[in-house]
Amino acid sequence: MVKHWQRIKDDRGSPIKLCMIWRATRASGFEKAFLVQRGDTVPFWSSFFLMGSMFAVAMQTWEIVGNLVAGRSAFPLSISWTIGIFVGQFVLFGGAMAGFMHLYMWRSDNHARNAMLRAGLCVSCAYRIDDIESETDGCTICPECGGAWRVHG
Ligand SMILES: [Zn+2]
Repeated sequence: MVKHWQRIKDDRGSPIKLCMIWRATRASGFEKAFLVQRGDTVPFWSSFFLMGSMFAVAMQTWEIVGNLVAGRSAFPLSISWTIGIFVGQFVLFGGAMAGFMHLYMWRSDNHARNAMLRAGLCVSCAYRIDDIESETDGCTICPECGGAWRVHG
């Protein structure tokens, strides 16, 4: 199933499914270091702060609500414990998520498109299309999935 966030348009405007990085390396046989260059994936620190803060705030909110519902004080632990837990949740979850996203997720549709076409691959299915003759509008049609890409310049 194609989810909304996975959908991009090919160079003829048809919606297609974006190829994930792990699938692209497996389908093409290219090394990830060749296919994915610096800056093509989600940057670590911005997603660390975003994911870490969202998770820690959500967990703390959950705790506070839980405590209040159970008739306890909102912060039953000492201030240093409360801060320590918050920081721990922030760092562990933010670090894990940012590490994962930085390794395995495209920074944007555009970054994915550029990286895949640079390597001569169909953006949708990672089929090798750079040795296929392009049509009159400059698009090369992927024989595997029908995606249309301007792979030659
Ligand atoms: Zn394709």
